[in-house]
Amino acid sequence: MENHSYFDYAATTPVDERVLKAMVPYFREDFGNPSSIHHHGQKAEAAVETAREKVARILNCAPEELIFTGCGSESDNLALRGVALAARHQRGACHILLSPVEHHAVSHTARKLVEIEGFELEYLPVDRYGLVDPEAVAKLIRPETAVVSVIYANNEIGTINPIGEIGKICIELGVPFHSDAVQAAAYLPLDVEALHVDLLALGAHKFYGPKGVGALYVKKGTPMIPILTGGGQEYGLRAGTQNVPYIVGLATALEIAHSNCVHEVQRLLPLRDLLIVQILARIPISHLTGHPVSRLPNHASFVFEGVDGNALLMALDMAGFSCSSGSACKTGNPSPSEVLLALGFAPDLALGSLRVTLGRGTTLDECHALLHILPELVDRLRTWN
Ligand SMILES: *Cc1c(COP(=O)(O)O)cnc(C)c1O
Repeated sequence: MENHSYFDYAATTPVDERVLKAMVPYFREDFGNPSSIHHHGQKAEAAVETAREKVARILNCAPEELIFTGCGSESDNLALRGVALAARHQRGACHILLSPVEHHAVSHTARKLVEIEGFELEYLPVDRYGLVDPEAVAKLIRPETAVVSVIYANNEIGTINPIGEIGKICIELGVPFHSDAVQAAAYLPLDVEALHVDLLALGAHKFYGPKGVGALYVKKGTPMIPILTGGGQEYGLRAGTQNVPYIVGLATALEIAHSNCVHEVQRLLPLRDLLIVQILARIPISHLTGHPVSRLPNHASFVFEGVDGNALLMALDMAGFSCSSGSACKTGNPSPSEVLLALGFAPDLALGSLRVTLGRGTTLDECHALLHILPELVDRLRTWN
């Protein structure tokens, strides 16, 4: 594995050593339950509240507007279910407005709300880069709209949406606005005031924190029903004893990512652009997916005509490169990505997708090595050969 290059930072990132170090005491000597009255409990509670304050500073919100959850998916679930059910309960609202390029944690949650709760789901139009036009949001919001959700930066295609502009429209029209910022968190501004969001989802393992912990910003006064009930933890919105070490890990990781951000963007942008320019130049009938400019600095994604994306991933793996097809779809699941279909790619072409995502461990040499091998592998796998 030493010579295996990791090009899948959008799937997950390794835990930063400093994060791990900050977490360890809360498994051992400071193991208390934050809800306990005594000394041990107080220490654990102080750790959770310090973590909440750290995250709140980065999001420019009040600490009590942050809910710690079990992962990014849970944050999306709480945002969508919690707000949709509350909006229906309070004002009979039963219309959900989504971009067609949401992560499954949002889109499949909305579909369950349709199937089981009778909500109506409508999709916003996107252009061929996966961008949502704020004007379209203004046109499609109705009095009975319960929630609008638009992904901040897309995991499959890297496109960054104009969240601030969409948020302004939602505020004007009085509809709660959720944005999935799980991919965005490591690289983009998270100031919730500037983004004009009511809800913002984060997941620690996408920014060098541990898997299995997330956070959700819930703007003060946003009507919300808990989806996990029990004890009164997390302001009554997420029952369950807090996972203290992981919450400490999330906050530490976000602080580090935030303070490194400018430097990391400067380092990764030229590597990303080298990959994009060279792959498009060296591989015939290849296309960039997602926006050429408004895209994550660590994200390059493509489709290659006449190539089976899964076969390409396996060939790359054999050659020592861990990449992705972009979607969560695993080998043996031949359905094309809904995101690529929403962008207007034909199903056949969408099956030939490749996502290359960079991170702290990525070197220029690794990028050159990938560029060296990829054209040959694509050529070998082309159906017409
Ligand atoms: C990874 C990811 C999620 C899910 O986060 P988990 O912590 O893995 O549950 C949600 N949305 C986006 C955009 C993601 O990239």
